Formats: sequence, C-alpha cells, structure tokens
Amino acid sequence: MKKVLITDSIDQEGIDLLSSEDGIEVEVDHSLKGDKLAGTIQDYHALITRSGTSVTSSIIENAQNLQVIGRAGVGVDNVDIEAASRRGIIVMNAPTGNTLAATEHTMAMMLAAVRKLPYAHNSLESGTWDRKKFMGIQLYKRTLGIVGLGRIGSEVAKRARAFDMHLVSYDPYIKREKAEKLGVELLDDLDDLLARSDIITFHVPLTDETTGMIEGEHFGRMKDQVVLINCSRGGVIDEDSLTGALKGGKVFMAALDVFSQEPLPKDSSLFGIEKLIVTPHLGANTEEAQKNVSVIIAQQVINVLKGQSYENAVNLPYVRGRLSPELQAYFDLSSRIGRLLSQVAKGRIEEVQITLVGPLFAEDIAEKVFDSPFRYQPFTFAVLKGLLEVNLQDGVSFVSAPYHAKEREISIVEAKAERVKNYSDMITVKVTTDLGSNTVGGTVFADLKGRVVSIDQFLVDMVAEGTFLFFTNQDRPGVIGKVGTLLGENRINVAGFYLGRESYQGSALGVVALDSRLPEVVLEEIRSLEEILDAREIVL
Ligand code: NAD
Repeated sequence: MKKVLITDSIDQEGIDLLSSEDGIEVEVDHSLKGDKLAGTIQDYHALITRSGTSVTSSIIENAQNLQVIGRAGVGVDNVDIEAASRRGIIVMNAPTGNTLAATEHTMAMMLAAVRKLPYAHNSLESGTWDRKKFMGIQLYKRTLGIVGLGRIGSEVAKRARAFDMHLVSYDPYIKREKAEKLGVELLDDLDDLLARSDIITFHVPLTDETTGMIEGEHFGRMKDQVVLINCSRGGVIDEDSLTGALKGGKVFMAALDVFSQEPLPKDSSLFGIEKLIVTPHLGANTEEAQKNVSVIIAQQVINVLKGQSYENAVNLPYVRGRLSPELQAYFDLSSRIGRLLSQVAKGRIEEVQITLVGPLFAEDIAEKVFDSPFRYQPFTFAVLKGLLEVNLQDGVSFVSAPYHAKEREISIVEAKAERVKNYSDMITVKVTTDLGSNTVGGTVFADLKGRVVSIDQFLVDMVAEGTFLFFTNQDRPGVIGKVGTLLGENRINVAGFYLGRESYQGSALGVVALDSRLPEVVLEEIRSLEEILDAREIVL
C-alpha cells in the first residue's frame, strides 16, 4: 500500500482521484507542518502541497520512503529541490493547469481597461450619472500586440481573433509556423510591435531579458493612447516608468495583475492613478484552475507511485545519480552547452543535433535510466533543458524540456561517432535556426571538470561555469589590451581568458571569464571598439 499525505487545501476532485486508485491510501492533514511533519513524513510515499507547506531539508532528511513531492500549482519555491534530488525524490508541479484562467483574466482586464469599467462602476455607485468621462474604445479592428506567444499568449490570440482584432506578436523563441497557425503576424523586433499596437499584452516569464523589458524610452515608441495589460510577472514593465506614462497622458489605460513587489504595499504609488486597473494576482484564481492543478498533480503522483511515465517533474533525480562520475560530468556539461548555445544562436531554433563521440558513449544508456515517453540519451535531456530554460524559465525541467521542444516543433537528432581527433571522448551539439547554425563541442578532463573546447570554427579551452564576455574581432595586435583596460576601468575582475583564432589576421573569438556580471553600458563600450565585430555576455 502506498501512502499519500496532503498538507494543504487542494480541490476535492484530485483527492477523490487518488482515493479511487487501488493500492493508494490518502491522508489529508493541514496541521502537519514543520517539526510535526518531519516527525511523521517517514510513513509516506508521496506528499502533496500548495504553497502553505515548506518542505525543508530537515523534513526531507526524515523522508526515507518518499518517492514524490507534488505541488498543486506552478511555483515550487516552498520545496528544497536540491535536498529532494539528492535523496532521489521527484518534485513535480502542474504548470498547465491555470493557462485558461490566466487567459480569461487577461481578456477581462482588456475589456475592463478599454471601457474603464471599474471607474465607471465606482462613479455610479457614488451617485454620479456621468457618461462622458467614461468614453471607451473598441477592440474591433484594433491591433493587439502579444509579447510572448506561449501557452497563455496563444490562448489570448485565439480569443482576440473572435473580436476581429489584428494580431501581432514578438516572441523570438517560437517558430514562425506556430504564429501563422494562430493567425498572428510574428515580428522580429519588439520596437516594431510597440509602434504598431493599440493594445499590448505581456505573456513572458520573468528572465534577465524580460526584466524591465518595458521602461523609459520604450513608451515613446508606442502609439499615443496605447492600452497596456500585464498578467504575466511583475517586473516586466518598469512600474515607475509606467506611472510617468500614465500621468503624462501617453497611455489610455493600463491593467496589472502582477507587481514587482507582492503583496502590493498598502501605500503603493500605483494606487489612485485614475488610468490604472489593478487586481491582486488573480490570474489563476478560478475554481476550474484549482480543480485542474489538483487533478493534474494527483494523476502525476499516481503515475510515479505506479511506475508509469510522468511529465511535470522539475528535477530529475534518477538519471544523474545512476551515471558514473565521468558521465555525470558530461551530463552537467551538456546542460551548460545548451545554455551557451541558447545565448549564442540567433534566430528561431529548428533542429538540435547531439553527437556523442568516443568509447565512453558506446553503450546505449537511454533505456536504462529514464522513465519518460521520450527515449533520448540523458545528455539530450540535459542539452534541451539548458537550451530552453534561459528563455522559458518556469516549468523547464529535465523532464519537461523535450515536451517544450516538441511544442516548438524543434527536431531532435541524436548521433554517435567513434573517433575524435584530440580527445578520447567528447560531445558536440549543433543548433540550427532559421538564420544559420552554431556548433559547440565539449569534453571532460581527468579532473572531472567539463570544458568547452570548440565554438563553431574556433578552438577554445574554457571551464564551462560562470559569467563570460564573448567577443569576435579582427585578429589585430592590441585588441585584448583594449578590452582588458575597459574591464579594469569598470572594476570588472578577469578570472580567465581564452582565445581562438580562425587564421592569422582572420577573425578571432575571445572568451573572458569574469568574476561579476557585465553591465550593458560596459558591453556597449566594448562593442564600440573599432576591431570588435560582436560582443555579448554569456552566463553558464
Ligand atoms: P510559456 O512558457 O508557455 O510562454 C512564455 C513565452 O514567452 C514563450 O513562448 C517564450 O518563447 C516567450 N518568451 C521568453 N522570453 C521572451 C522575450 N524576451 N521576449 C518575448 N517572448 C519571450 O508560459 P505561459 O504559461 O504562457 O505563462 C506566461 C506568463 O504568465 C509566465 O510569466 C507565468 O508565470 C505567468 N502566469 C501568470 C498567472 C497569473 O496569475 N497572473 C497565471 C499563470 C501564468
């Protein structure tokens, strides 16, 4: 008999699903938290929570029989994932359960904004019959700009089409065909979307790239009287700049469900701006969404306990733990090669080819170690996770990465090769996009450190860990000195330097390992050096 413990309130339908399963016993006890939970957790094979239970390392230490921790929802910040992984416990969430709830909230916010509904309501309730003040605009034939055409962005697109809106989107990580199928014109430039849209809605994860993606000068590039909706993550639109644009009359109305600080403080400067509608992160707050996440997590837990394949694990304890130390180092390196390629490759990814080279990879370990409908080599899972997590973030795990790749119609090609020139074993990954291709090769030395040894035509030797400045330049004397001086002047410490050169006086690739992140202004200064062809920060 497998025992499932539920310590937060989840919808009954998920509980019923678990209870109806042969061989599974369910116990619901919301009082089991902290030390109390640590004292009884050894009796259970599965634990289901929402955000109200902290699953700390001391609880996990006592969890001798626990196979799976399920979070009925998306965020798993309440679980010590590292501790769980070390013990071989699967941690899973339900990232798809609230897509439609967030979509419908976006539509509600859009309609409320264009007709100023909350203000009209308050005005009438206070006894004023004022119609002039609440002149609205129509959605019909307006251009809706959708930033991020993932799950929610796509569902918003379908609904907006029913309003006969013209749809444009900016999402550099999806294929053009996906947008075409949705009847959306995919733009290559965010500025283009800002210039053309009457209403702009955001459906991106919060990443380095999307934090403050709308601030200051961006407002100037928008149409006058634009409407802005953000039901994705606080921090995507800079709140001070938005306040300025609302007060300055540039924006017709804005609607926010998410904030850079949550809960929003009582004295927030956002309150009282007559052109702003706010809701307290209600996107996923529907009965149906709560039911969905409950049922999804219950089904996933059943699958794990019954040894069937599952989808939404955010960690992957088994694969890595079962590999030899050398193969574990290749597994970690694969992930970093994926991250590197996601930051180097330009364009929309169409194909990823992973080639395992040398005798170390002679034995096929795909079947042996992985419980998933995708029978890839573990290294492929690791490459895909690294490649996709930089820009998708939420919900990209080793297990979900192939699903994300499939959704984006990215072809995966696995290959093996027997011989390699300079190394006994290596792994090469080639990413092909609609604009070209990039190939990165890596190997593991006797110290078990993963090194990147080739990037396209350049041979390098870099330990794949940390923050780097990558630059390409014309091979001329003095370039390294100029870059080093600029970094020094800006108090950025250099931890290592690697140089690869195509040919004498041809093009060269410089890789500088840094002790800190590289501010955009410094990067701009480096780019403006005469010999530099391209420069970017890469975080592995
Ligand atoms: P998703 O991963 O399916 O889609 C995100 C899309 O954003 C992807 O297609 C990705 O390619 C794109 N993207 C990434 N970086 C980008 C960039 N720099 N520029 C443009 N596009 C970029 O995620 P989803 O399920 O659609 O969720 C979207 C957002 O909504 C997430 O931030 C999620 O956390 C949030 N969300 C909020 C609520 C709420 O309660 N308000 C509920 C659910 C989800």
